[in-house]
Amino acid sequence: MAFAEFDLIDTYFSQRMEQRDDVELGIGDDGAVVTVDAGNQLVVVTDTMVAGVHFDQDTPARAIGHKVVAVNLSDLAAMGAEPTWISLALTLPSIDQDWLQGFTHGLREICEYYGCQLIGGDTTQGPLAVTVTAHGVLPHGSAIKRTGAKPGDWLYVTGTLGDAGLALAARQRRQQVSDAHYRRITDRLYFPSPRVALGQSLRGVASSAIDVSDGLLADLRHILKGSRVGAKISLDELPLSLALTETLTQDQALAYALTSGDDYELCFTVPESQRGVFDTLVAHTASKPVCIGRITNEAEALQLTLQGEPWQLPETNTGYEHFASPIEPSV
Ligand SMILES: [Mg+2]
Repeated sequence: MAFAEFDLIDTYFSQRMEQRDDVELGIGDDGAVVTVDAGNQLVVVTDTMVAGVHFDQDTPARAIGHKVVAVNLSDLAAMGAEPTWISLALTLPSIDQDWLQGFTHGLREICEYYGCQLIGGDTTQGPLAVTVTAHGVLPHGSAIKRTGAKPGDWLYVTGTLGDAGLALAARQRRQQVSDAHYRRITDRLYFPSPRVALGQSLRGVASSAIDVSDGLLADLRHILKGSRVGAKISLDELPLSLALTETLTQDQALAYALTSGDDYELCFTVPESQRGVFDTLVAHTASKPVCIGRITNEAEALQLTLQGEPWQLPETNTGYEHFASPIEPSV
């Protein structure tokens, strides 16, 4: 146990979070004990964020606390799971009380908003890195997988795409953005909103789903590969924010929306037979998914059209790279 001289866990993590009824034993023993209802399945996801790789050194601590939970809840949302418990592995270069206050504030806010509880973890000394394992539950057999898309299914995305990528480019001075746009898109980079409620309501309705963390094209390809299908996308339907359309040329805006990461929106498919149910359920949700195309039977073939004409991603670097490329493919 590092930081023995200072009871970091008691001070920052033990008493401050809301308690769930299904947590029999949370922080304070060798392991947590939680009650899992019969008939449910547990979904477990893990994501790591490393300083200098996934966020730059001047990222606010509160944003790091928010985002490391958000990216995990986004994975749970893509599976259709209800978030329940998280564990945290925190590697810190030193004890910085201001940083810890900010970090736990961000972590606590998002946990309380989505009703999940921190039930354990570990703290060590070293270069700044945060890892969260999130657990979620869903009725047995109802998980939404990447392998269920069928030819003819409709393809949807939530929110707007490319905003976080543009914010990163602006922060790194690769792209000029007006102050008003900058504030809004920086919020999307630092405080992504995982589509938790929508993900759960897609159980039994969507045939496949994935969260958009590495860029729409990269993530959609996982569905196409897993389901052995292709897709046809009408780029005219792609949801773009004013920040993108007012800052960039059309080709640049599309390139950001299709390839920049960190959106944490959902991409999913809905069979024709479920479309009526789907339309009714999204009429009552805050996130308004947009239909951007259709699944085809041509395995792994992706056709992009703009105003009915084939469209290709510009070869030149338009500056939409990740802060640093992820080392491993997302799983
Ligand atoms: Mg994912």
